[in-house]
Amino acid sequence: MVSVLLKSNIRSRIRDGHPWIFSSEVELIRGDCAGGEIIEVYTHNKKFVGRGYINPKSQIIVRLLTREENETIDDGFFFNKIRKAWEYRKKIGYTENCRLVFGEADFLPGLIIDKFNNYFVIQTLALGMDLWKPAIVNAIKEIFSPSGIYERNDVPVRELEGLPQQKGFLSDPFDTNIVIHENGLQFHVDLENGQKTGYFLDQHDNRRAVRHIVENADVLGAFSYTGSFEIHAAHYGAKSVKGLDVSEAAIAMARKNAKTNNLDTLCKFDAVNAFDMLKQFEKEKMRYDVVMLDPPAFTKSRENIQNAVRGYKEINLRGIKLIKKGGFLVTSSCTNLVQPDLFLETIDMAAKDAKRKLRQVVFQSQSPDHPVIRKLENTNYLKFLVAEVL
Ligand code: SAH
Repeated sequence: MVSVLLKSNIRSRIRDGHPWIFSSEVELIRGDCAGGEIIEVYTHNKKFVGRGYINPKSQIIVRLLTREENETIDDGFFFNKIRKAWEYRKKIGYTENCRLVFGEADFLPGLIIDKFNNYFVIQTLALGMDLWKPAIVNAIKEIFSPSGIYERNDVPVRELEGLPQQKGFLSDPFDTNIVIHENGLQFHVDLENGQKTGYFLDQHDNRRAVRHIVENADVLGAFSYTGSFEIHAAHYGAKSVKGLDVSEAAIAMARKNAKTNNLDTLCKFDAVNAFDMLKQFEKEKMRYDVVMLDPPAFTKSRENIQNAVRGYKEINLRGIKLIKKGGFLVTSSCTNLVQPDLFLETIDMAAKDAKRKLRQVVFQSQSPDHPVIRKLENTNYLKFLVAEVL
């Protein structure tokens, strides 16, 4: 087996359990490696660190799968890990729909599995994980007897690993337009053409967090996608709800979702650019009791963090200006690299520019079926703030 020797001055990060090894941390690779295969990692003085997969083309050259010297990486390993991930989801109360496997947080770096009822959507985001796709599919089949499995590997990050972007069935073909239940509502999910894996499960609990503040409120939601927050608001007693998203397909689905839940007279959607629309509403002196913002990730690279911060400030400033005194801002950020403190500071700056004060109602992360491993900063990616705007 190929072995990787680390430099003598490795950072405590690896020692403390972080599964990534950067090429700059490697002293020597013993043996030929094509990429993707399982290798062993040793410290400079030959102490076993772990076993994982290698990709010499990637900046993250190794991702560790185990730290146990006697644990082999085979089909059984993946079966056990996926079974454990499922046991954990059941234990914390996420059964019908959940992120069944959340990469590093389930000790399976590069693997995402979303469970939608009995349908499964998988992403293998690294070469070394992609090679185990057959074992992963078999494990899902064995544990769940699924109604269908779909691959949503149409993501640019795969190209950094030398992998093609692709999507398709990993089981017998099935109707990829499904319906899921969430907080007592129904949502249509398009597993094949929806964004990401089809539906944003990470906001599951946060959608419930708007319950009381939307009662009798005029609500504006921007970046609605298929209308999940907006339909929750209508369901929880809002007087009127308007949702905005730039994607025509998302808006068509949002309208369909509103109708399915008999909330289509209350809940209206427009396919528009939210940045422009919020500006226009400000000009028209429109005011809302609740403004909800859930933009896409503004950057995936460190160089652009400042741009992302500017984006968050801009959109939140525009949102805050539309909120009546004593109304509420509901704002999210899924940009991994914008850490919670930076996000809060950005919202504070927006409030300051708008000459408004914020009283925090809740500040939380993603739903617990997307576990956060302490010290593994990229597992704690979602920021969700509800604040009263005074
Ligand atoms: N709130 C949604 C998820 C939103 S994802 C939910 O809980 O399901 C972010 C959304 O922002 C995507 O649907 C994307 O189409 C939309 N979007 C991106 N840029 C936009 C823009 N400039 N104006 C409006 N919507 C935009």
